[in-house]
Amino acid sequence: MPLQEARGRGANSVAAEVKPVEDCLFCKIARGELPANVAYRDDGVVAFHDLNPQAPVHVLVMPIRHIESLLALGEGNLELVGRLHAVAAQLARELGVAERGFRVVINTNREAGQSVPHLHVHLLGGRAMGWPPG
Ligand code: AMP
Ligand code: ZN
Repeated sequence: MPLQEARGRGANSVAAEVKPVEDCLFCKIARGELPANVAYRDDGVVAFHDLNPQAPVHVLVMPIRHIESLLALGEGNLELVGRLHAVAAQLARELGVAERGFRVVINTNREAGQSVPHLHVHLLGGRAMGWPPG
């Protein structure tokens, strides 16, 4: 389904998709129980601006369904990971950083700095970035 079409369908079907992971910060955002500056929403994906941005554009793209990390992926949700990246690319275009360049990052577990155990893709752009990452 094209992203624009998916975006249009999202609002009514979100609540039914959400698993009851009561104490997860990002599940609460997905359920609308915590405020967020939402940039994109469809029936499986929510993207919102990071509260503590590390670049002029810093958006988090996550599945509505609670998945702890990349390590929790199985055969059943491989397509979802592609979808998270497609949404990140579309937002990069919409937020004006696609042409000059952007980075997507998935932190996994402690040494990579994952602080919220709900899978999310960081979309970072709007400034030059170093390599290797810190
Ligand atoms: P990570 O450290 O990779 O797990 O990324 C978690 C990100 O979530 C960090 O960049 C935080 O700044 C961001 N964050 C935490 N709480 C919120 C919130 N309530 N709204 C938006 N972003 C948040
Ligand atoms: Zn969650």
